[in-house]
Amino acid sequence: MNNITKVYPNGIVANEGVDFSLRKGEIHALVGENGAGKSTLMKILFGLEHPEEGEILLKGNPINIGSPNVAIEHGIGMVHQHFMLVPSLTVAENMVLGSEPRKGLYVNIKKASTETLELSRKYNLAVDPSARIRDLPVGIKQKVEILKALYRGAEILILDEPTAVLTPQETKELFEELHLLKEQGSTIIFISHKLHEIKELCDRLTIMRNGRSQGVFNVADVTEKD
Ligand code: ADP
Ligand code: ADP
Repeated sequence: MNNITKVYPNGIVANEGVDFSLRKGEIHALVGENGAGKSTLMKILFGLEHPEEGEILLKGNPINIGSPNVAIEHGIGMVHQHFMLVPSLTVAENMVLGSEPRKGLYVNIKKASTETLELSRKYNLAVDPSARIRDLPVGIKQKVEILKALYRGAEILILDEPTAVLTPQETKELFEELHLLKEQGSTIIFISHKLHEIKELCDRLTIMRNGRSQGVFNVADVTEKD
């Protein structure tokens, strides 16, 4: 993302000339205080907001991310802080909802169940495709959101403060799953406030302040004092 500027209708400049770059296969932390502009930048990457200025390049080619469907077509997935799952439906039914961009208009629940099971085994995300979302604990709902992004073909996964809602045990499981995803070639953006989590999980970090990027750093070079 090059030189991204986003001004909301109320005049707030949420992003100002922000550069943000990802390397394939890395886990990249996006860090900054509340209001720094992290969510806005990620909403732009997922097509939920549109910048006044700037460009987005994927593998060197400019892309125009007009909507989440376009983002999904480009292999970008988002795991929301407030889950976007339909509570009364099953895991497999939720996989299918909104998955048309990558999967075609007509989808088959039985096939979705099988694919969900295969994906959950591959990434060690233990989820029962026939379970109803409303019966699941928060940690499992998050796994379903990750699976849904993978089901839709995500190669770049955006996680907005994913540990905020998790217990320490669930956090440990999530990190193992994210490491596995990385090993299998996924690129992950991890929004977090917690330096110890970033040190444990991430390769590089971009720091944001007041709508601007303060630069990108190798996690190995960052000490607690920083
Ligand atoms: P962060 O994710 O780092 O907390 P945000 O991107 O959510 O930061 O917010 C950046 C700034 O933009 C904040 O001042 C916030 O209040 C403002 N903002 C975020 N979303 C909107 C919106 N939809 N309309 C107006 N202002 C917004
Ligand atoms: P996030 O976790 O994405 O930072 P927030 O709690 O900051 O979420 O915002 C929740 C919703 O309210 C978002 O859709 C955001 O765009 C919107 N929002 C945030 N700040 C403002 C603001 N100052 N004015 C209007 N809408 C806002």
